Amino acid sequence: MNNIKLSQRQEEIIQLVKENEPITSEQLAAKLNLTRAALRPDLSILTMTGILDAKPKVGYIYSQKPSYNAVNEYIRKIKVEDIMSKPVIVSESTTVYDAIVDLFLHDAGTLFVENNGVLVGATSRKDFLKFAMGGTDMHKVPVGIIMTRMPNIIVVDKDELAYDAACKIIEHEIDSLPVVEKVIDNNKDGLKIIGKVSKTNITKLFVKMGKNI
Ligand code: ADP
Repeated sequence: MNNIKLSQRQEEIIQLVKENEPITSEQLAAKLNLTRAALRPDLSILTMTGILDAKPKVGYIYSQKPSYNAVNEYIRKIKVEDIMSKPVIVSESTTVYDAIVDLFLHDAGTLFVENNGVLVGATSRKDFLKFAMGGTDMHKVPVGIIMTRMPNIIVVDKDELAYDAACKIIEHEIDSLPVVEKVIDNNKDGLKIIGKVSKTNITKLFVKMGKNI
């Protein structure tokens, strides 16, 4: 794990290794005017963190591994199912008014819309604002009229990487993705909503990683 704060001497050692690799601990000690024993703790920190590689009988070399590799490997083990949370789902016939109430009650930013247990659309805060600005009676219009519809909904599978979900959120400039599972609906393929991954889930993961690594 390379996100530790390095001391000035450790930075100096890295620089010397980069310029002179491979370099033995005797040579390093001589360049730094230190004894080998005084250098040992720094060298063990730098090899343990993977910044330097100690090659037996050759000396120290600067590791080819970029320093973010540990974080990178960690991130790529996390699946959508590890970070997903409960989605707020309304039916297509729910009025816009009731859907907005649901948005407030569940403290959500996006509602997913289903019909007979199958994903049919999504509505976000801005969809509701846009509708409200139009002045139409929100008690009379169903959410199905204002939602973004399938097949335009960007979805994610529970076995996909959390990283790939985050990429979809960025690429499509949306706040939330429904986590879905395939179902057969009237002999037609449909998607059942089993969770959600939102910007909040990704931010929570980021905070957790900051604590763990
Ligand atoms: P907001 O616009 O409220 O900030 P979003 O950026 O998530 O929220 O939504 C932008 C647009 O994308 C909205 O019209 C919304 O209906 C739609 N949308 C929301 N989630 C998805 C999704 N998973 N796939 C496709 N479109 C979506």
